Amino acid sequence: MRRPIVAGNWKMHRTLGEATELAGEIDRALAAVAEVDVVLCPPFTALEAVRRRIADGRLRLGAQNLHWPTEGAFTGEISAAMLGDLDCSFVIVGHSERRAQFGETDRVVNRKVRAVVAAGMKPILCVGETQEQRDDGCTEKVVREQVSRGVDGVEDALIDAVIAYEPVWAIGTGRTASAAQVQEVHGLIREQIRGIAGNAGDALRIQYGGSVKPENAREIFAQPDVDGGLIGGASLDAASFAAIVEAAI
Ligand code: PEP
Repeated sequence: MRRPIVAGNWKMHRTLGEATELAGEIDRALAAVAEVDVVLCPPFTALEAVRRRIADGRLRLGAQNLHWPTEGAFTGEISAAMLGDLDCSFVIVGHSERRAQFGETDRVVNRKVRAVVAAGMKPILCVGETQEQRDDGCTEKVVREQVSRGVDGVEDALIDAVIAYEPVWAIGTGRTASAAQVQEVHGLIREQIRGIAGNAGDALRIQYGGSVKPENAREIFAQPDVDGGLIGGASLDAASFAAIVEAAI
C-alpha cells in the first residue's frame, strides 16, 4: 500500500512573512491529518523560515530546483548539499516551466535527479506532454522518454522517488486531465518503472499535477495508480490545499 503524497509548489510566490504565515495556516489546517505525506515547496528565500515554522516534523520541506555540481563558481545557483542543510526532503526537478522557460533538457534534468539522490533527498521528477504532442498522439512516447532519461543512473533509488505526471496543457490553465486520461498515463509510467527497476515500480509514488482543486481532487486521487498530487495555484490557499490533502486519504 503506497502512502499518498501531496506537494505544494509555491513557485515564485510569497515573501518571507507571507510564506511563514501560509505555512502556519497549512500546519493548523492539517493538524489532524496523519495519513498523507505533505510537502511544502516555497521559494528558496523562504525555505529556512518555513522549516522553522513546520519544525515538529509532520510537514515536509521541499525545494523547487537546484544546480547539480556539488559546489563552484555558479553565480545565483543552489546546490543539493545546501538544500539538505535546510532539511529539505524533496526537490522538484524538471518542472515544465523550467523545461520551457529555462531550457532544461532531459540531460540537465537527469543530472539534477542524480544530484538530489546523491545528497540523500528524494526527487519529484516532473514529466508531461504539451497540447500539441497530445494532439499528435505522442503522449506515451514523450512521457516514456522523459521518464527513462530522467531516472537513468538512479534505478536503485526509485523505490523512494516520486514522479509527477503534469500534462503541460493542464498546468495553471484551469483545464484538468480527465481521471481516465490521468490513470492511463500513470499506469504506463508504473509499468515502465517495473521494467526498469522491478518491484520499485509498485512502491514508487506517482503524483498528478495540473489544475487540481478541491472539487476535482477526489476523483483523480481515487485512480489506482495515482498516489497524490503536485499542486500549484491551489497550494497558495491554505483551505484549498488542506481540502486537496484530505481528498488523498
Ligand atoms: C504545477 O505547476 O506543478 C501545477 C500543477 O500548477 P497548477 O496546479 O496551478 O496547475
